Amino acid sequence: MKRQTPQNRDLTARWAPQTQMVRAGTYRSELGEMAEAVYLTSGFAYETAEEAEARFEGTAEGFTYSRQSNPGLAMLEERMAVLEGADIGRATATGMAAMTASLLCQLKAGDHVVAARALFGSCRWLVDTLLPRFGIETTVIDGTDAGAWERAVKPNTRVFFTESPSNPTLEIVDLKTVADIAHSHGARLVVDNVFATPVLQKPMDLGADVVTYSTTKHIDGQGRCLGGMVLASRDFDEDHLFPYYRHTGCAMSPFNAWVMLKGLETLSLRVHAMCDGAEAIAGFLDGRVPGVRHPSLASFPQKALSDAQMTRGGTIVTFTLDGGRDQAFRFLNALEIMDISNNLGDSRSIATHPWSTTHKALAEEDRLALGITPGLIRLSIGLEAPRDLIKDIDRALAAAGL
Ligand SMILES: *Cc1c(COP(=O)(O)O)cnc(C)c1O
Repeated sequence: MKRQTPQNRDLTARWAPQTQMVRAGTYRSELGEMAEAVYLTSGFAYETAEEAEARFEGTAEGFTYSRQSNPGLAMLEERMAVLEGADIGRATATGMAAMTASLLCQLKAGDHVVAARALFGSCRWLVDTLLPRFGIETTVIDGTDAGAWERAVKPNTRVFFTESPSNPTLEIVDLKTVADIAHSHGARLVVDNVFATPVLQKPMDLGADVVTYSTTKHIDGQGRCLGGMVLASRDFDEDHLFPYYRHTGCAMSPFNAWVMLKGLETLSLRVHAMCDGAEAIAGFLDGRVPGVRHPSLASFPQKALSDAQMTRGGTIVTFTLDGGRDQAFRFLNALEIMDISNNLGDSRSIATHPWSTTHKALAEEDRLALGITPGLIRLSIGLEAPRDLIKDIDRALAAAGL
């Protein structure tokens, strides 16, 4: 399979992110197709038995089986790795497959993990329920408190795990400081960068060792396919990630990889347009309803930190209605444009009630400790005209008695 141009890292790493998102990692077959081909094949044939042997030994280049790699996945992995500034990527079937792989591939019984308490619901389940089941100790802390990370460290601490901004309360973790603490104790920092996207935040530049995505969110960005990605160094891949990945079967479908490649081409355009909308809607809501959170607002409690580590505030806005679940449901049921759903990063704006859906699995006191109250609404701003969304929100707030 011929490369499109003499495309190597020395070239693609110098490109601007917009160019990388369209072109990095592209392979073209001898047919010269413009769009990336979809290689819907489970396996690959060899010219000779010697060739098969050499590929299995790793002494000859080429694919063997799509559980391990596939041309479409390789294109997506290289494109995202170049964009992130990572050596390698491994594309997984879902975001949760990526989160699970990033942790289990490097942990064993007797190890200890420190995690921020403000995590996506299923990530909290990994930390609170799955890891302890295999003898891996976990400590959950307030990730916004740098001292809490330091205090939680034990001699067997191997991994720090966090999101920033967090889902859904937009807590910002000081990634540089937390990475330095992890490294001073010989631990690695794993960052779930879903909310920020690679367009707005580069955790590896701040010291993260492993970056994970649910590509289901902004990277597909059009609500079609599930997917995930783990990005790391070549050493981490050889020692930990690839052995886990190839033998446990968490690979992304080649068709989904093709959809994600198409999504990446427009990622920067979409994320910036969605940030424009989120800023306009946060500005409208601030003063209209209580507890509006978006990093672009002067009232945002961690504004200086978010300005320092993200280029923009992101595509999610949250607020809290004093009337609790009833008022939140009246608001949601009155929306005419925005959908009631639980995805995010979609071109369609989505309103979510985290208390009763995405974070329902968390114990009530854990939800309340995180600021996930029955009145909390999470808005994922899409690509519709902000003017239409503001009218929709305004009308639904009035229907909820505001
Ligand atoms: C959605 C999400 C995940 C899980 O991704 P899936 O693709 O749904 O498995 C993990 N972390 C965060 C922050 C998310 O928003």
